[in-house]
Amino acid sequence: MSYDSNNVFAKILRGEIPARKLYEDAFALAFPDVAPSAPTHVLVIPKGAYENYDAFVARASDAEITGFFKAVRSVAQQLGAQHYRLITNKGEDAGQSVHHFHVHILGGKTLGTLLGE
Ligand code: AMP
Repeated sequence: MSYDSNNVFAKILRGEIPARKLYEDAFALAFPDVAPSAPTHVLVIPKGAYENYDAFVARASDAEITGFFKAVRSVAQQLGAQHYRLITNKGEDAGQSVHHFHVHILGGKTLGTLLGE
C-alpha cells in the first residue's frame, strides 16, 4: 500500500483536523487518542509521510528514526508515565485503521494481557 495523504493523521499534521497537541518537535507530533483504550492513551506520529512501521524504517533517515523514538520517550516522560505499553499496528489484520505510522502509548492503570484476550 502506498501512502494516502488524505488519511486523518496527515490532515492533523496539515492543521485541517484539530488535535490537542501534547508534544511537537521536528520529528514527531503527539496528541490524545480520540477513543482511549486506557486512562492514558496518546498517539505519536512522525512528521514524514510513512504508511506504517515497515515503511518508516525502510524509508526514513536515521535522524528521523532516532528523532521519532526519542520523541516517544519524551512524550512518556512528559505524561509522567512510569509504566506504559507501546503498540504499533502494521496492516489491517493487525488492527491498523489509520495508514500513517503511529505509536500508541498506553498506561494509567494496570494493563491486561498483551492482546486483551
Ligand atoms: P490504529 O487502529 O492502530 O491504526 O490506531 C488508530 C487510532 O487513531 C485509533 O485508536 C483511533 O481511535 C485514533 N483516531 C482516529 N481518528 C483520530 C483523531 N481525529 N484524533 C485522535 N485519534 C484518532
